[in-house]
Amino acid sequence: MKEAPTLIASRIAAPRGGAPAPSGGRAALAVCDCGRLDARQRPLAYAQCCGRYLDDWAGLPAPDAESLMRSRYTAFVRARADYLLATWHVSRRPATLDFDAGVRWLGLEVKDRKAVDADHAEVAFVARQRDAGGRAHRLSERSRFVREDGRWYYLDAIEINKG
Ligand SMILES: [Zn+2]
Repeated sequence: MKEAPTLIASRIAAPRGGAPAPSGGRAALAVCDCGRLDARQRPLAYAQCCGRYLDDWAGLPAPDAESLMRSRYTAFVRARADYLLATWHVSRRPATLDFDAGVRWLGLEVKDRKAVDADHAEVAFVARQRDAGGRAHRLSERSRFVREDGRWYYLDAIEINKG
């Protein structure tokens, strides 16, 4: 009895995005949590998307406000308080950051991005999550971003709705 050589195929088949896997041990080919698509409308891998910024914030900052916003969503999925605090503008940055226990992030949709001027931008998005009790929530927010010394920072939310 011969078995089909499926090892390579099964190793390449990355888990579909949407349901965040437990942190750690994800293959480099795994779809990025933020759900960004490439030019051919295929989901980008974590290592080609937000992973570049999360794993080397000092060396490779997110190049624009939308990329920073997406990488911060991915940092929430992965409970990366260090990245969230580092990319929060110092004027608004909290001292510490707690993650709600049991929350599962289900997906991100960027609704709008607007350049206010060269160093200020806004991004509107909807993030879906399920809380520890199993209830689904839709968090919609319009965020403001500012660029200083060539780096984009999250400033604050000017509209926020949770349903
Ligand atoms: Zn991403």
